[in-house]
Amino acid sequence: MCVIKNSLTQSHQIVESIVEKGDLVVDATAGNGNDTVFLAGLVGEQGRVFSFDIQENALNSTEKKLIDRQLRDRVQLINDGHQYMKNYISEPVKAVMFNLGYLPGGDHSIGTKGNTTIEAIKNSMELITVHGIVSIVVYYGGDSGFDEKNQVMEFIRTIDCKQFTVMRTDFVNQINCPPILICIEKNK
Ligand code: SAM
Repeated sequence: MCVIKNSLTQSHQIVESIVEKGDLVVDATAGNGNDTVFLAGLVGEQGRVFSFDIQENALNSTEKKLIDRQLRDRVQLINDGHQYMKNYISEPVKAVMFNLGYLPGGDHSIGTKGNTTIEAIKNSMELITVHGIVSIVVYYGGDSGFDEKNQVMEFIRTIDCKQFTVMRTDFVNQINCPPILICIEKNK
């Protein structure tokens, strides 16, 4: 088995290392619900997950997965853009997970977009606790194109280094645009 995991697995490993039972966390891109299920398992019965998607069918798939695993009661499903997360959340959150791109098996033209993603990342950076994490798995190329990736990469370079540590992983010798992981940690 490979020691160096892909970006999605690495995002789970980092989030798992900080989220505790009872925490409040966010899945900014619910999609088919894999990250929401993952987060709901981490926060336990006393915790809460806010899960956003602009597509109702994505939230329906997510809800089904949660019901099957008896996790539905700890998750708030929100059919709205993640850029509006502060309309729904006012308490500090431990982690915010983004999985950029389009819904697998869905309409490839309804993907995340650079300007709204950056707005949502900024909001997430305001909401997270000290040593909380914003994780962003960036899918690009193919039907997703490169605009959003380029905008996000440009934005993260401008983040104040005193307040936040920003990490970016790259699989430099892989072909076909392997997803990139970005993690942002609040320092103080
Ligand atoms: N994390 C998901 C999973 O585990 O299956 C995959 C997410 S998928 C790559 C990206 C999702 O982001 C799509 O379902 C899409 O509808 C959603 N999306 C696009 N723009 C959005 C926005 N502004 N706010 C919230 N979700 C958005």
